Amino acid sequence: MPINVTRSSMPSFEEYCEEIKELWDTHWLTNSGAKHRELEAKLGEYLDTPNVTLFTNGHLALENVIAAHGLTGEVITTPFTFVSTTNAIVRNGLKPVFCDIDPVTYTIDAGKIEALISPKTSAIVPVHVYGNVCDDEAIERIAKEHGLRVIYDAAHAFGESYKGKNVANLGDASMFSFHATKVYNTVEGGAIACKDAGIKAKMEYMKNFGIPAQDKITYAGGNAKMSEFHAAMGICNLRHLDECIAGRKAVVERYRENLRGVNGIILCPEQNDVKSNYAYFPVVFDGAKYTRDEAAEKLAKQGIYARKYFYPLTNDCDCYGFNGNKTPVAKRVSESVLTLPLYPDLSLEDVDRICSIICGD
Ligand SMILES: *Cc1c(COP(=O)(O)O)cnc(C)c1O
Repeated sequence: MPINVTRSSMPSFEEYCEEIKELWDTHWLTNSGAKHRELEAKLGEYLDTPNVTLFTNGHLALENVIAAHGLTGEVITTPFTFVSTTNAIVRNGLKPVFCDIDPVTYTIDAGKIEALISPKTSAIVPVHVYGNVCDDEAIERIAKEHGLRVIYDAAHAFGESYKGKNVANLGDASMFSFHATKVYNTVEGGAIACKDAGIKAKMEYMKNFGIPAQDKITYAGGNAKMSEFHAAMGICNLRHLDECIAGRKAVVERYRENLRGVNGIILCPEQNDVKSNYAYFPVVFDGAKYTRDEAAEKLAKQGIYARKYFYPLTNDCDCYGFNGNKTPVAKRVSESVLTLPLYPDLSLEDVDRICSIICGD
């Protein structure tokens, strides 16, 4: 059996069947049905935040929340992310301005944001990369001083808290992805948590073609609704989330034990004040026995598929014509980072084997 970088969490077949059974009574499959409403309420509780709204996926959630805030001109963001973040900004007709990353957490370097602010800047879109929480206090201070919005791409941070507060409460809004590969999934899916109830109300019709009420269309919206089947999967997976995070934690601890102090292999330090979800296990190769690419190849030969996550940088993507050399820290990390396999039931023997291979033992 190949070992992939991740393996989707699923409830038992019986549990899911039980959950979807009533859909055969109601024949109500989408458009904010009972499962959708139940999941939205449960997530509001779990995220400990007042305004949550579900989407068909994380990307459209991000596109819609950016649109809902009526941003203009330029948005300061990180190039060290999945391309979805940058695409969501560009597809809203905004110009991404790329800020370099912190060399330790790989999140946006808050100390470099202010130099990039221009009269056209309207927002900051940071990313909690790998579940490493951004320097929210510094970001909020800058945002307040310059009148900017802060919209987090929190796709990697579901289930995390910072100083005892769920990360869903940071910034003006946060996007969570519930894609199959994430810590928590609804197969495909996503959500926005936002401070302003008015923004939530707006997104309710934005994701439904811009129809706020019968016989009324007030916005040129698309379709980004979550179906009942996806919401049912989310209800089931939410029941097992704590177990799932505990399983990930055991794997991460084994990786740390094995790789701590190995020459030329750099691990992300655990963050103080953060309750982690153990979403990813990135390793940076800097003078180790193998380079990143060699290590990835050695693993692949054994049927183990780690990912060069995030490579290339989004400011090096062909479709944009920006320049990754302007964010040298991000460039260096992106060329030397490998994200190792991580899922709740990955065996510790396999973790040991992966470590031996990348260390060249
Ligand atoms: C997964 C991901 C997205 C997109 O989420 P989808 O649910 O797949 O649309 C956006 N940003 C980051 C950082 C992601 O990892």
